[in-house]
Amino acid sequence: MSVTESLDGASLGKLRENFRGQLILPGDREYDSSRIVWNAIADRHPAVIARCTRAEDVVAAVRFAREHDLVIAVRGGGHSVAGFSTCDAGIVIDLSGMRAVHVDPARRIARVQGGALLEQLDRAAQEYGLACPVGVVGHTGVGGLTLGGGMGRLERKHGYTIDNLISVDLITADGDVRHVSEEDDPELFWGLRGAGANFGIATMFEFRLHPIGPNVTTAAVVFPIERAREAAALYRDLSRSARITCTSASAWRPRRVVEGRFRANEESRPSRSAPRTSAINEMPSATSVRFGATSSPFSKRSLRPPTSPCRR
Ligand SMILES: Cc1cc2nc3c(=O)[nH]c(=O)nc-3n(C[C@H](O)[C@H](O)[C@H](O)COP(=O)(O)OP(=O)(O)OC[C@H]3O[C@@H](n4cnc5c(N)ncnc54)[C@H](O)[C@@H]3O)c2cc1C
Repeated sequence: MSVTESLDGASLGKLRENFRGQLILPGDREYDSSRIVWNAIADRHPAVIARCTRAEDVVAAVRFAREHDLVIAVRGGGHSVAGFSTCDAGIVIDLSGMRAVHVDPARRIARVQGGALLEQLDRAAQEYGLACPVGVVGHTGVGGLTLGGGMGRLERKHGYTIDNLISVDLITADGDVRHVSEEDDPELFWGLRGAGANFGIATMFEFRLHPIGPNVTTAAVVFPIERAREAAALYRDLSRSARITCTSASAWRPRRVVEGRFRANEESRPSRSAPRTSAINEMPSATSVRFGATSSPFSKRSLRPPTSPCRR
């Protein structure tokens, strides 16, 4: 008898009484599309996928898992490279039904549900010319990213995501609801800011926002490989400079990749000796800060193991 069969008659009905979201079981039409995560190698078969729509659903799912001794995997944006947001024969507590973002422009604060994606936070904040420093790919989850620290293109000026975290509404392993902040629960708040995925399920995050955009300036300077040492020293000195508040990154790329990127503009093609600067762009910060895509990249992906763990 499968785990789900043994659960079904006994107690899934009881869970349904307290659960307003969707319970997805093996054999359901949506089961396969609901169990995939960004890293397709994590091809797991949970006994139940509990797609929550409110904090009470999360509490019910946690208590149910405890009663039935089920492994719990929490899924925010599903981007865990290690595949932590799914499991075999356990329960996936899926927060994709909890993606609301509310911005208070006067206080420069965003309240973000635990399953929201970066692009949703980004777009809501940009409505008011504000932004929170988060990561660079729009379909990453706010939940996993924040609880792991959160690095991105605004960090030089405004810090990591956790530097801008004000509070978290957390469901603990025993199903209790806690409001965690520097004032209310400083020790747990400290733990959440970096190792957070281990301490409970965050149903709501409160973030500080900063005036950004609506346009930001971006540019790339490309050096030929023959000048790599000189370019690396220049980059080191530049990035040490306290005067620079923009975020920078350096990369070594094969010439054909770089030339491909510059092919639209023959003039700016890197030569063997001189550095070239790409067009300096003014872009809406919602796209240039995040380069966000509007839909999840893995929603239609094959469940066959990929050739590379992180293909997109
Ligand atoms: C394409 C890509 C780009 C990335 N870019 C960046 C970047 O620019 N900056 C950066 O810092 N990181 C980046 N990362 C890393 C990313 O932040 C982590 O993989 C993060 O864990 C993803 O969070 P998620 O909610 O999407 O993933 P999930 O797989 O849903 O969750 C990851 C972990 O967090 C837990 N979790 C998720 N939500 C919650 C919640 N609400 N409460 C409790 N636990 C939760 C899960 O259980 C799991 O253990 C990137 C990853 C990918 C795949």
